[in-house]
Amino acid sequence: MIAKWENLTRDEIAAIDKESAIVFLPTSATEQHGAHLPVGTDSIILTALIDRIVNEQTFDQGSLIFAPQLRIGKSNEHMGFAGTLTFGTQTYYALLHDVAGSIARSGFRKLVLFNSHGGNTDMLNLISRDLRIDFGLDVFVFDWWFTSFWAKGLQDLKQSGKYGVFHACELETSLMLFAQPESVHMELAVDEDPVACLRDNDYVTVFGPYHAGWKTSDITRSGVIGAPTYATAEKGKKLFDYAVKELMDIISVFAKINY
Ligand SMILES: [Zn+2]
Repeated sequence: MIAKWENLTRDEIAAIDKESAIVFLPTSATEQHGAHLPVGTDSIILTALIDRIVNEQTFDQGSLIFAPQLRIGKSNEHMGFAGTLTFGTQTYYALLHDVAGSIARSGFRKLVLFNSHGGNTDMLNLISRDLRIDFGLDVFVFDWWFTSFWAKGLQDLKQSGKYGVFHACELETSLMLFAQPESVHMELAVDEDPVACLRDNDYVTVFGPYHAGWKTSDITRSGVIGAPTYATAEKGKKLFDYAVKELMDIISVFAKINY
């Protein structure tokens, strides 16, 4: 079974075989995405992906349950631009801890923190170990910004340069042009690389390997980091098709991992 938590009854949730079930807690953001994309971009993309999995896929290794999406995350890097909503670090930690604890209290053993916003990633990696220790859950972090997930999907599609895919970029704009084109304003799209000091050296860049605690207005004027003018709906369709298939393969591996 693949289902959304909110569509199941109490008794249906109670009856799920918890040994083989996996709960996904979708985490996204509401934050500025340049002039051309809506502030809900990260949650709109994640919702579209979840809907495709729920409506089109089957899974024979157990139940996949998608908990209600947390559409506000940790986005304080974008404060200063209008439209951004954020939790503070301590609030977001407490909120995730409470929701995961509730999922554990319903008897589930396996949890995937299912994330579409790069500003959440450090928190999810941090809390995953605490949730393992505090609730005995097996916890996985699915993140698509600091893994090879999208790089693999973009292999034959990406046309922009080294910094073309980062924020409100070729990738996110293509996904939005396919998922919700009426909310995309391509005539306002501008391309912008991060500032030279976090770009033109081998050590401290926005991609690492060494990290700087930047805020968005330190490194971009437009609020875009990347090249949205290369985006097309056709690329978005191919990227969604890739993402659904790749995700089902990754989920099969999550299902097999038991300590
Ligand atoms: Zn985004």
